[in-house]
Amino acid sequence: ASWEKQVRHSSTPRRPNGFSVLVTGAAGFIGSHCSLALKKRGDGVLGLDNFNDYYDPSLKRARQNLLSKHQIFIVDGDLNDAALLTKLFDVVPFTHILHLAAQAGVRYAMQNPQSYVRSNIAGFVNLLEVAKAANPQPAIVWASSSSVYGLNTENPFSERDRTDQPASLYAATKKAGEEIAHTYNHIYGLSLTGLRFFTVYGPWGRPDMAYFFFTKDILQGKPIDVYKTQDQKEVARDFTYIDDVVKGCLGALDTAEKSTGSGGKKRSPAQLRVYNLGNTSPVPVGRLVSILEGLLGTKAKKHVITMPRNGDVPFTHANVTLAYKDFGYKPTTDLASGLRKFVKWYVNYFGMEPSKGTQRAGETS
Ligand code: NAD
Repeated sequence: ASWEKQVRHSSTPRRPNGFSVLVTGAAGFIGSHCSLALKKRGDGVLGLDNFNDYYDPSLKRARQNLLSKHQIFIVDGDLNDAALLTKLFDVVPFTHILHLAAQAGVRYAMQNPQSYVRSNIAGFVNLLEVAKAANPQPAIVWASSSSVYGLNTENPFSERDRTDQPASLYAATKKAGEEIAHTYNHIYGLSLTGLRFFTVYGPWGRPDMAYFFFTKDILQGKPIDVYKTQDQKEVARDFTYIDDVVKGCLGALDTAEKSTGSGGKKRSPAQLRVYNLGNTSPVPVGRLVSILEGLLGTKAKKHVITMPRNGDVPFTHANVTLAYKDFGYKPTTDLASGLRKFVKWYVNYFGMEPSKGTQRAGETS
């Protein structure tokens, strides 16, 4: 079938000993960037995404168009479709899975809890079941989240810190993913590497994240909500630029051991690893807003409110020593330079001029 041909073509590496990677969530923010980076260096990439409408699917379709220009094919399907996944593994002997598909967002979990359970727990287990049965067994790198630290007050967060106080159902499902990964590593010898991302931002980003909708609202002259903690401190995030995260994902793939398929007791299981991928410098949300004001040439109408108990945590701050030691991870982009690139993309994509509010570029000149 032509579908099979596309799948094979897309996932065949173009460099000697290149990887053949199944990227789940390839039409998503981080997935689209990682897919492009892998393809550019000569690895084979096949995407999987269900194009759900958690945020505007037209942005996912636009990322898909970009990927297709680079001969990356995205299969339209769900993590929970075991027959489809099995078929993909029958057609392609994937060496790696970069598993980024998930129901993201902490606040939406209060409206649609089941969607988190379906994608982040059931979907992950389904994928692991298929990976375990595949021959060869692929090495798996998957997205966990800084949210697993929850109300942890150690500063910065290290991988060994407690993760037993998830503040949202999203965080709880990401934490559950880590526990599930341990089990599949222990019983079936699957090679699993979890990456705890810290507030990733940049071009082609997610419209449900603060830096994105602040930009939109500031340009449209709408007020923005800036949170303070219950004790009136500023909320701070360890904003991490997408290119740094992509390097971290590739580094994790490059250093992943092979799955041992130990299945029983004889061979020792492959390693299970978990890493922070952050920027190591938390920025208060007020500072985020003032950088955006400078870039957009417009003052924000700030509406400062005390943080409701909606799943947000007061601060995040990554210690990335472990990722540096194991695969040289070193974030290099500060928030001001990263946001400059984001705003440039935003204005180009949505056709808005920074200082012209809601008017479209072209209509004003
Ligand atoms: P995203 O929502 O842009 O990408 C996820 C993609 O997965 C989407 O395109 C979505 O359509 C797809 N998807 C969701 N459920 C699916 C399912 N059941 N089957 C098939 N496809 C499905 O999000 P992102 O920001 O690119 O995040 C990627 C991963 O990183 C996620 O696992 C997320 O939880 C994690 N993460 C992201 C951040 C961040 O700041 N962006 C921080 C921590 C963790």
